[in-house]
Amino acid sequence: MSESIFPSWIELDIPALKRNFQFFRNRIPRQTAIYPVVKANAYGHGISEIVNAIGPLSDGFCVHAAEEASRIPGNKPILILGHFPEEMGFLARLMLDRRPVFTITSEIQAAALDRAAKAAGTPASVHIKVETGTQRLGLPPSDAFKLMSKLRTFENLKLSGFSTHFANIEDTTNHQFAMKQLSIFNSFRNSLTQGERYRFHCACSAAALLFPETHMDMVRLGISLYGYYSSGETRLSSMQQGLQPEDKLRPVLSWKTRPVQIKAVAEGDFVGYGLTYRAHRSMKIAVLPVGYSDGYDRGLSNSGYVLICGQRAPICGRICMNMMMVDVTHISDISCRDIVTLIGHDGDEQITAETLASKSGTIHYEVLARINPLIPRVPVD
Ligand SMILES: *Cc1c(COP(=O)(O)O)cnc(C)c1O
Repeated sequence: MSESIFPSWIELDIPALKRNFQFFRNRIPRQTAIYPVVKANAYGHGISEIVNAIGPLSDGFCVHAAEEASRIPGNKPILILGHFPEEMGFLARLMLDRRPVFTITSEIQAAALDRAAKAAGTPASVHIKVETGTQRLGLPPSDAFKLMSKLRTFENLKLSGFSTHFANIEDTTNHQFAMKQLSIFNSFRNSLTQGERYRFHCACSAAALLFPETHMDMVRLGISLYGYYSSGETRLSSMQQGLQPEDKLRPVLSWKTRPVQIKAVAEGDFVGYGLTYRAHRSMKIAVLPVGYSDGYDRGLSNSGYVLICGQRAPICGRICMNMMMVDVTHISDISCRDIVTLIGHDGDEQITAETLASKSGTIHYEVLARINPLIPRVPVD
């Protein structure tokens, strides 16, 4: 791999990825399918690298948009959770190439898929999304029924399942709202006379971890496949259930670079745009070729740190578009050949996506998903 020509690179710990998957596989009944969620470039990990690595173990994959489905290598089933265009040529080609399952919430969408399926000469499979309280995608149960009966008039569509999504399962240790959503979904399911003909699914990572009753026919496994609990609350709840979580899930992604310059800075010198940092003693600074255009949050200006030679090196001044400066005064033998860890382990120190998220006022999902897809991803066995 020629990653050394790039300013920074991502390493993927493939054994950790497989362990995380296996952790869920061992706790979920075999008849329940596990579909890794690989939207947003596999949460920033690299869609083709993740699909290639986990494809042999998984039952299928979830993506957000139809456009992503065409970028999934191999031939595992694909479930589109969110967007697809009503463009017949595109849809017909996708149906022929990948036969994805589409999530729908309207008759207009159904009609578009029906036309494309007719053109493709192959029936298209759809799941209806049921609204149970998140007020994102989904139809209230009564409207879901109506769409279901409407679907019988479309000759080229096959209804194969129903889904819903929880609003408040990872943001709290109080799971009352999630349980209310689950009961709405279950009553809908029980009211279908031939419910057993369809696949039902509602579980994301937190639900899959905490509530076996959400497993149903399929689990949509996102953040935890990549080695993270959905939240601190989810970690706490899982520990209250007796899990020993710390040795179970392992972060898959590390982000690394090397300094491009190491320089002396005199007491009183300023560092970076806006003169927001001023050296209060003579210092040694390393300039790193990573900035906010790479997905390193500008909110980490003057507050984040990186790891070099097993030690923390605090960020000095503002994060620039393609560069940042860090204080390496205390690292005596540093050179431009040393590896700098932005996310990952170095010696006893570790920076996780959660570390960066809490420092920049967001969540680890966002930190990971915003890492620039152009940075090379290197699977490490
Ligand atoms: C992203 C997403 C998931 C995965 O959620 P995680 O918390 O990352 O496991 C599951 N279902 C839907 C509908 C999603 O959009």
